[in-house]
Amino acid sequence: MLNDHQPPTTLDVPSGEISGSLDEPMKCVWSGYPHYDRTCRSRIPSSVVAKAWQREMQLKGTVEGFFYFSWRSGVWLAYGMPDGRVRGVYCPTHCSERDARDPGASEPDGDAAAQ
Ligand SMILES: [Zn+2]
Repeated sequence: MLNDHQPPTTLDVPSGEISGSLDEPMKCVWSGYPHYDRTCRSRIPSSVVAKAWQREMQLKGTVEGFFYFSWRSGVWLAYGMPDGRVRGVYCPTHCSERDARDPGASEPDGDAAAQ
């Protein structure tokens, strides 16, 4: 008579399909300032960003901060951390938008000096 024990539990682990976060694409962190009600769909492989940050640290000795790098004929902006990770990226469209903080203020009120 076979005993009634249940078979050993087989864990439902898919083999060979480890979803590491290394190659997960990073999303443009722009969110529609000042309302924060929009999102950007631009993405970039995080390995590309990580490599660019490594280069930046080696070439310029940067420890932490914003840095620019080009990818696919566009210039991206990202914030690198001292431990080699990157905190956030801006796609080419939104990094230039971030630079121009006041798009409507290109003409300052200079009437007094215009005479
Ligand atoms: Zn964007």
